[in-house]
Amino acid sequence: MAKEIPEIKVYNTLTRKKERLVTNVPGKLTMYSCGPTVYSFVHIGNLRASLVSDLFYRYFKKAGYDVIYVRNYTDVDDKIIETSKKENLSAADIAKKYLLEVEKDFALADMAEPTLKTTVTSHMPQIINMIQKILDNKHAYVTDEGEVFFSIESFPDYGKLSHKKTDELQVITRIEVNPKKKNPLDFTLWKPAKPGEPFWESPWCNGRPGWHIECSAMSTCHMGDQIDIHHGGEDLVFPHHENEIAQTEAATQKKPFVKYWLHNAFVNIYKEKMSKSIGNVLLARNILNQYGKEITRFMLLSVHYRAVLDFSDENLEHALSGLHRIYDAKAKAKELLDKKSIIPDLRAESLWGEFVSQSEKAKKEIGDHFANDFNVSGALARVFDLIREFNRVLSKSLMQATPASQLGAQALIAVLEDDLGSVLGFGGDEPSKIFKQLEQIKIAKTPNLARPTDAEIKLAIKARAQARLSKNFQEADRIRKDLEAKSIILKDSPKGTTWEYK
Ligand SMILES: [Zn+2]
Repeated sequence: MAKEIPEIKVYNTLTRKKERLVTNVPGKLTMYSCGPTVYSFVHIGNLRASLVSDLFYRYFKKAGYDVIYVRNYTDVDDKIIETSKKENLSAADIAKKYLLEVEKDFALADMAEPTLKTTVTSHMPQIINMIQKILDNKHAYVTDEGEVFFSIESFPDYGKLSHKKTDELQVITRIEVNPKKKNPLDFTLWKPAKPGEPFWESPWCNGRPGWHIECSAMSTCHMGDQIDIHHGGEDLVFPHHENEIAQTEAATQKKPFVKYWLHNAFVNIYKEKMSKSIGNVLLARNILNQYGKEITRFMLLSVHYRAVLDFSDENLEHALSGLHRIYDAKAKAKELLDKKSIIPDLRAESLWGEFVSQSEKAKKEIGDHFANDFNVSGALARVFDLIREFNRVLSKSLMQATPASQLGAQALIAVLEDDLGSVLGFGGDEPSKIFKQLEQIKIAKTPNLARPTDAEIKLAIKARAQARLSKNFQEADRIRKDLEAKSIILKDSPKGTTWEYK
């Protein structure tokens, strides 16, 4: 008999409500997640988005759904073409190179393999077909140059995902006026290639698709016209996902294209928005190499997916102490299981019997937290409660290995591995390995990740000037080197000392 699926609630951006999940086909679930554009290494924001969809996927499978999960790679795009000029490789080679690099990072993060990973360039016939359908249904038009635009005026539902009227959207997006567009919000479905750019033949011109159409084409091609869940970072709500709805519903004439839209929030770095201009972009690979997958996953998943995640020392400390508690209890449970069982005293046996039934209760409650729009912190809090109880019973029973205490140890390990580890991807490893990692991190403590604030830099510059005045050049040098380790370079001039990022 098929497993009974629990009642699950998810927050739907479309309705702005937490809703009960009812899939199109009972027992089956189709999910599409917008993956990265492969023109560089992925950063921590991309990693969070991918880990969130990995969490959804692992949880839905565990809950008993037969899941089809499709994640794409955007492998033709303006940024890829730009990088290809810089790196002196073809656009196809750039995409191939970075796709492999992203795969390496995802493997380091122990990401579960989706049912299908798709690329744009392997779906050109489906994309062209879909654009033709949109044209046939009179939702798009072709310019003299062969560029195909979606006409948003032909689609009265436009704005339903971002909850904006089209005139508001025009103000927000400040789109440059293109005289060939009938409405400034009309967006490209197909565009002619510039000389030297990659192109595909089409009925309209030799060119390539606009960005949005790929996800519509790939999701309908592999999962049908209507899917259950579509996920992405919240920056994709508008225009990307709004446009996906318009295109798909215009092509298939079926509503809704997606039943539940799930979006995860951003990652900030030390309370600042991550951006290239500030120079605080953290690469996923650096985080994964430095901390390993368990700590990285704890840091990125323990904060609710719809809350902004601040990557900071506190976030790291929280992960280190959380994992330490989990693996400390696991190590003790394993130690207990490795001991030879002795004849118990009855009082301790009843304490352990109580613990086993508590862990059954905890299993159910952890499941309830995940079923409530992925309340990971609720699930973790319940795990820590159980660990506290385990430690209490363990000390009361003087760590004696008895038939009942060994059942208790097994129950705890089962919660850590099956209920926590299988969904969040941490808690399932060997304690000795994790302890070693935690120890190494404590030693390194990564000062160069903690970028000092402007005020702190000014203060350091002042202290250095003081040190130089009092001829303490050793101290002045130490301050300069300390800043350099944090990527701050000082420049002395007759007017004083200025600084810049390395
Ligand atoms: Zn997409």
